[in-house]
Amino acid sequence: MKVPKTMSTYCPRCRTHTEHDVSLYKSGKRRALSEGQRRYDRKNEGYGSTRKPEQKRFAKTTKKQLLRLKCKKCGYTLYRLGIRLKKLEITEVAK
Ligand SMILES: [Zn+2]
Repeated sequence: MKVPKTMSTYCPRCRTHTEHDVSLYKSGKRRALSEGQRRYDRKNEGYGSTRKPEQKRFAKTTKKQLLRLKCKKCGYTLYRLGIRLKKLEITEVAK
């Protein structure tokens, strides 16, 4: 699916339709020293089973694409939940 680079949509902060920059959401880097990660590592240490089962096969072949829309006027960012897609392209013009 092709997605336009910019699109006009509703901005909750401006309370009107404005131009938005479109980009694809990417999850942030995992912090190795966060409390949850330290707890998880501690649990996995030593003899015994792991905390969570090892994922052997996946039911889904695609991922839901999440669009990140940034208002050009005020800089407010909103996310739009995407649909399951194999390929998502951000292009100059919508088609
Ligand atoms: Zn705005």
